[in-house]
Amino acid sequence: DFIDLKKQQYKIREKIDKRIKSVLDHGKYIMGPEVYELEEKLSEYVGMKYCISCSSGTDALLIPLMANGIGPGDAVITSPFTYIATAEVIALLGAEPIFVDIYEATYNLNPDGIEDAIKYAENKGLNTKAIIPVDLFGLPARYRLIDKVAKTHNLMIIEDAAQGFGGSIRGQKAGSFGHVASTSFFPAKPLGCYGDGGAIFTDDEELANKMKSIRIHGGGYDKYENIRLGINGRLDTMQAAILLEKLSIFDDELKLRNKVADYYSNYISSGLIKPYTPKNYYSSWAQYSLLSQSESERTKIMSTLSNANIPSMIYYKLPLHLQAVFKKLGYEKGDFPISEKTARQIFSIPMHPYLDNENQDRIIEVLNKY
Ligand SMILES: *Cc1c(COP(=O)(O)O)cnc(C)c1O
Repeated sequence: DFIDLKKQQYKIREKIDKRIKSVLDHGKYIMGPEVYELEEKLSEYVGMKYCISCSSGTDALLIPLMANGIGPGDAVITSPFTYIATAEVIALLGAEPIFVDIYEATYNLNPDGIEDAIKYAENKGLNTKAIIPVDLFGLPARYRLIDKVAKTHNLMIIEDAAQGFGGSIRGQKAGSFGHVASTSFFPAKPLGCYGDGGAIFTDDEELANKMKSIRIHGGGYDKYENIRLGINGRLDTMQAAILLEKLSIFDDELKLRNKVADYYSNYISSGLIKPYTPKNYYSSWAQYSLLSQSESERTKIMSTLSNANIPSMIYYKLPLHLQAVFKKLGYEKGDFPISEKTARQIFSIPMHPYLDNENQDRIIEVLNKY
């Protein structure tokens, strides 16, 4: 109910059935024609020369890091207020995630902290090679400022557009802001399939070829010549087929999501802080999140919603620098106060393109009464 995928499926079920049947008929389950058709359509949609589809949003982050030889002794800057995958891939390769706190208003990485983070990494004997800004909840990060610092320090930008796909700044689409960008087709993301999936975007031909090779076990000219380490990172043909139909209604859905968000923002009148969308920014509304006054208030509101059969979720309860898995990085409570405060007070309410006014009114009424 939180992200109603049934209504969408009902709308395009026949077309999806046809697409699935066509895959069953031709039988090219791995790297079939739908995969290439989708890559072409996605790169056109985002406005980047190359799209490399892959098995998940996580692999979409891992592959560009591998292609750039990120490893032990390297640092990669990112936000502590994101899904674990963003920082996990950095650590998996033996590099260190270095965190920078977020903006209070947008929950996205605050570029003012980047230079200190580079110094912090240097003091640890690490060489900062890249930065992974996250388009949290669908809102693109502040790329104009991030680009500036990244240029000065020669950092590669990898845009984590897992939630941001469909968003834009001044008409420029998410998935095109970094040297390379990653997105996810996990079912609950703005553009989701019926399983796992992801995609990588870049304008750099050499990098694109390297990433294509890494996606399929580091292959060279043919499948059985291996020139580098890679992974099994392919997108299933079946998922590509499903995505092609979902992509065809995606822009309409984006408009609907924005309508739903505007309606919430216009009519929620309780003391909750509503999402802030900077001028010229367009969000894909992966989540509609509200900020309560305190952790105990959040608990109460969420149970009031639950009593009215309205689902709500917390993204994210614990910032990454305080997660057990990253204890060895040496961060402490208090290091990123805005992320920590946000984690205590934030919660998300139902958001999907097919949420009607009647249901929204019900949610708004419960919130406003509270
Ligand atoms: C979902 C998500 C990912 C990972 O995507 P998967 O397809 O689940 O592997 C990475 N980063 C962010 C910000 C996400 O929300």
